[in-house]
Amino acid sequence: MEAIVQHVIGGRRGGGSGQRFADVFNPATGQVARRVVLGTAADVDAAVAAAAAAFPGWAATTPLARARVMFKFRELLEAHAKELSAIITAEHGKVLSDAMGEVQRGLEVVEYATGIPELLKGDFTEQVGRGVDSYSMRQPLGVVAGITPFNFPAMVPLWMAPVALACGNTFILKPSERDPSAALMLADLLREAGLPVGAFNVVQGDKTVVDAILGHPGIAAVSFVGSTPIAEYIYRTGTAHGKRVQALGGAKNHMVVMPDADLDQVTDALMGAGYGAAGERCMAISVAVAVGGVGDALIERLAPRVRALKVGPGTDPDAEMGPLVTGVHLAKVRGYVDAGIAEGARLVVDGRDLRLQGYEDGFYLGGCLFDDVTPEMKIYREEIFGPVLSVVRADKFDDALKLVNDHEYGNGTAVFTRDGDTARAFAAGVQVGMVGVNVPIPVPVAYHSFGGWKRSLFGDHGVYGREGVRFYTKLKTITARWPTGIRAGAQFVMPTTG
Ligand code: NAD
Repeated sequence: MEAIVQHVIGGRRGGGSGQRFADVFNPATGQVARRVVLGTAADVDAAVAAAAAAFPGWAATTPLARARVMFKFRELLEAHAKELSAIITAEHGKVLSDAMGEVQRGLEVVEYATGIPELLKGDFTEQVGRGVDSYSMRQPLGVVAGITPFNFPAMVPLWMAPVALACGNTFILKPSERDPSAALMLADLLREAGLPVGAFNVVQGDKTVVDAILGHPGIAAVSFVGSTPIAEYIYRTGTAHGKRVQALGGAKNHMVVMPDADLDQVTDALMGAGYGAAGERCMAISVAVAVGGVGDALIERLAPRVRALKVGPGTDPDAEMGPLVTGVHLAKVRGYVDAGIAEGARLVVDGRDLRLQGYEDGFYLGGCLFDDVTPEMKIYREEIFGPVLSVVRADKFDDALKLVNDHEYGNGTAVFTRDGDTARAFAAGVQVGMVGVNVPIPVPVAYHSFGGWKRSLFGDHGVYGREGVRFYTKLKTITARWPTGIRAGAQFVMPTTG
């Protein structure tokens, strides 16, 4: 990995015109590992020019030819999965096995995109009028951009780019400045797979680059994944500039634990969903709603497991949880734990004192477990994005459902029960986009689509799956008559289908 992480614009790796840089840390040691160049509006202009130049040629290829590039890209991703995972672990901090899982879920979207000839197949109706046929097709938008968060530096770009490219668009990626290197590897592999120069560009940077993307007349659509305040800003600003925008935001995912649930299974599920990736997942479970007196038994099972969590550098094969991404983020998460105590929640397991020998400066926080959390508390209302699980108690199923539905976020949720009736009522009534029934992290597979509700998604479309194809294409419908020699003369009434 290079000392300075650069852009890829028009197939060339370079530093662009930026004079500003940001530190990229190794979260396991707390040391600055490299720096990333922060791009400028001029760099965005250059990337748009490269992507716009590549667009007509790429859009004119056949869907099958684009699918073949995706097949090759898939093969290359698989061959380089370990290398890519190592890059993710080095900059994000998550354990290597989890980074491999991230790459795998991204790869599945590439597999979906190989089916683009079928997905772009249009509709045809013969004889919508006498001698008149009608057909519909979906065409690419042009140059589209993706702005992505730190927590999945490979998977989230792969939620977007394969579908956008397979549809015939060209792409500009603005990765998170906290773990920017994975994007460069994606760019290299796409080129190697046969994608033309300029069809996929990476502009590194921060708000300056984001604002240049949002205001650029040459960019037709923006996909964003990140926190809710920024998602809302992206949506409002991008749409005000006439762009198509999908902006996925933050989350506070509840797991409703019914009294009839298998508590050992629930405990396993909560450990993985609450503390995996140190809670830095938009689909992490951060609230367990214990229904009908099941709270004490749940805490009794959870507490020893949280205390026993194996925390270590992401490269340690025995570690279950790595460090947080940066020192700033660590301080923020610790601040939430302090706030929870101050607000009167009961901190059953306190991970704040964790120190790892040899990694004293790493951004580690041990697992934290709160009981007696109530809806007014800041730790309940806000997304913490760390290894902090809150247990809330509810008397009945209806109270639990109301809690979930009253929360401002609606990304993911789960119910654990053995009762089909309860599960069905939950799935039908919950105001959340992705629902698990005895599945703690219900991230839809690539041929379904991913998207939350409420303030977890701004815009009309989720990412990947058919939603992705719709987002990255526009509909065109052609109504055609071939003259037969019989002239009907001028017609002044609205055409009808008789
Ligand atoms: P973030 O919102 O801080 O950053 C996301 C992107 O926006 C980055 O590329 C960043 O450079 C850019 N950005 C940051 N501040 C900006 C500003 N003021 N103006 C313009 N651009 C700005 O998010 P993050 O901390 O990188 O990621 C964690 C967040 O992402 C969490 O809230 C998590 O829930 C969310 N997330 C959501 C999903 C989902 O699918 N809904 C998936 C992954 C992560």
